Amino acid sequence: MTSPDSDSAFYRTLLESTRAIPWKIDWATATFAYIGPQIEELLGWSPDSWKTVQDWADRMHPEDREKVVNFCVSQSQGGIDHEADYRALTRDGSYVWIRDVVHVVRGADGAVQALVGFMFDITERKRNEERLMALQHELEDLSFRDGLTGVNNRRKFDAVLQREWADARRAVQPLSLLMFDVDFFKAYNDHYGHVEGDDCLKRVAQALASAAHRPRDFVARYGGEEFALLLPATDAPAARAVAERCRKAVFKAQIPHAASGVAQILTVSVGAGTIIPGAHDDPVRFLQEVDRHLYCAKHQGRNRIVGCGS
Ligand code: GH3
Ligand code: MG
Ligand code: MG
Repeated sequence: MTSPDSDSAFYRTLLESTRAIPWKIDWATATFAYIGPQIEELLGWSPDSWKTVQDWADRMHPEDREKVVNFCVSQSQGGIDHEADYRALTRDGSYVWIRDVVHVVRGADGAVQALVGFMFDITERKRNEERLMALQHELEDLSFRDGLTGVNNRRKFDAVLQREWADARRAVQPLSLLMFDVDFFKAYNDHYGHVEGDDCLKRVAQALASAAHRPRDFVARYGGEEFALLLPATDAPAARAVAERCRKAVFKAQIPHAASGVAQILTVSVGAGTIIPGAHDDPVRFLQEVDRHLYCAKHQGRNRIVGCGS
């Protein structure tokens, strides 16, 4: 057994040799009664420079300060143990992510006497969390992108159509949709080969993306050699103008197509439609209608637009 004196020396050594930084705040005076010497190695501020709770708050990132201080004060007042993550200012002006784990010490009468706690350096953990989040965003983004052309894929199109449909319904605004299908694309592949065919689809996607000007205009590869362009808050004449711009953009790309039945270069047919969605309308039926227009464009000779007033 050790004596009480060597006990306290033992506990002190233990506390001051861990990587977690112990501290104690006297509640009545809001001053530091103790802070482990390790704080200097971590943040550069000497232990005696930690005098008041204000010093603690001042050495916090301004974006974290108000939320963290309010949270810690209210939890402490309520006598509730708690944890808070924040960025602590170092003496050289950078920041270190800290997790402060706080225990509220109460007297026999139940009143708060002191706060004791440990500060942990969680910079590495936060860095990993941020890396993981960035990776997750990247994966999410990839899962919504078409691998070949880089434009949005069908999955994303379905989600955006639902969202824009609901928005248009709420706002009583027209929603327009253009569906594109490359003309005689099977013949293109047969004539030039599949690799050239893939390259051609990339160029068509780029041409369509460049013809969509407004921030909410949404280009997607719908499947095979079909693309869709969703135009929120766009009425029929405006949609018609965009469709014409798209058709011309593909034409201007001047992709040779010696095996086409309509021109010397690659062309697209376009189905167009506009709707102000009502309670009894349905996005699938709207899609089918636009698809019918596309079918008509093929039947009427290709390289043309059907729908939206034509
Ligand atoms: P139409 O003018 O009536 O649209 O005739 P089409 O030949 O374009 O239509 P069809 O549906 O007969 O053929 C579509 C072709 O698109 C067949 C398919 O091999 C090709 N295709 C679909 N996806 C890809 C792809 O990712 N890469 C390539 N190279 N070809 C594709
Ligand atoms: Mg097709
Ligand atoms: Mg086709």
